[in-house]
Amino acid sequence: MSLSDLQPLGLDPILSIAARVARDPRPERVDFGIGVYRDAEGHSPIFAAVKAAEARIARDQRTKAYLSPLGDTRFVAAMSAAAFGEHLAFAGLQTVGGTGALHLAMHVLAATGSGRKVVLGTPTWPNHAPIAASAGLGIRTYAHRADVGGAFDPAPLLQAIATCSAGDVFVLHGCCHNPTGIDPNLAQWQDIAAAIAAAGALPLIDLAYQGFGEGWAEDQAVVALFHDAVPELLVAYSCDKNFGLYRDRVGMLTVKGRDATSGQMIVQHLAAAARTAYSMPPDHGAVVVRTILEDAELSRLWRSELDAMRARLASLRQAFAMALEARGLGQPCLSRGFGMFGMLDVAPGDVEQLTERFAIFLPPSGRINLAALTDATIERLADALLAVRA
Ligand code: PMP
Repeated sequence: MSLSDLQPLGLDPILSIAARVARDPRPERVDFGIGVYRDAEGHSPIFAAVKAAEARIARDQRTKAYLSPLGDTRFVAAMSAAAFGEHLAFAGLQTVGGTGALHLAMHVLAATGSGRKVVLGTPTWPNHAPIAASAGLGIRTYAHRADVGGAFDPAPLLQAIATCSAGDVFVLHGCCHNPTGIDPNLAQWQDIAAAIAAAGALPLIDLAYQGFGEGWAEDQAVVALFHDAVPELLVAYSCDKNFGLYRDRVGMLTVKGRDATSGQMIVQHLAAAARTAYSMPPDHGAVVVRTILEDAELSRLWRSELDAMRARLASLRQAFAMALEARGLGQPCLSRGFGMFGMLDVAPGDVEQLTERFAIFLPPSGRINLAALTDATIERLADALLAVRA
């Protein structure tokens, strides 16, 4: 095949929305698509703690000489201590966002297990399956869904664990499930961890929203729980949301091996995979995060900004759930969910109508970014949903 034989690709269901919104002339248009936090004015703000850290870095940084494929190791140490606590032993490396962490993990897993499969609960973040496929890993799915009361239903996941092969990789959203917002509770996580341990499967926790769910410590409880329950664990961590550094691409991959030597060995292989893919991760975002975490005052400022975001998201979620309830469109999953996303209960065609008639943009799946709501758009979206149902 020559390059000119390549066929056009379909549009990315989420990234293509921004382009469509930008072309739309209606001033009332609202973009509920891409998952970035927005404030009440609709802006994705830069944290004041980040601005302060950047000013300090611009003043004090003396070199931009190469680091290594491990990235900024002080960042990894500070971030894993802040995220998981000093007591949890993890080896790790800096990655190009959470995506880079998942990519390295899947490529090393593909190299170490013949016939290993990646098991995904669907719906899931649309990039999980393509990353697994790009590593040559097979994929199995189960339904990630809520029960009638809107709580996570663990039955399909437990069934998938019961029927997996040893070495299969379970990608688990550590908190704030994207796109449903519905997470297992702690007792359910305990059952899931025990079942995974018994099956000899490997958990890969994707933690992209720590601090946006129930709280900073609560949002990583699943990591501590799995750390105790299984001999080997991988955590793909993103700092892009909880530090607002999206385009700076900051993340890490942390590893618990069977013992300290094995953990370091796994990291060596991950670093070798990084070396062939991009050599080294970009430094700026990691040095910003480390500067904040190593300074008590900047840390306090950052945490207070993150806490305010979490509180705003939770109150938007409840206000929107009430607005739907008031119109007879109540959805328990929305009010019981956590984090930036929820799924609107939409029929095929509803989303296109929302866009055509009301300038409301979201992906066809019905996933909405709740941070894009404001007092005014809560009512508008609820009214529009009622109208398209009529
Ligand atoms: N995992 C999930 C569940 C996500 O929602 C995202 C980002 N949308 C990522 C991973 C990737 O994060 P990053 O932007 O840091 O690569």
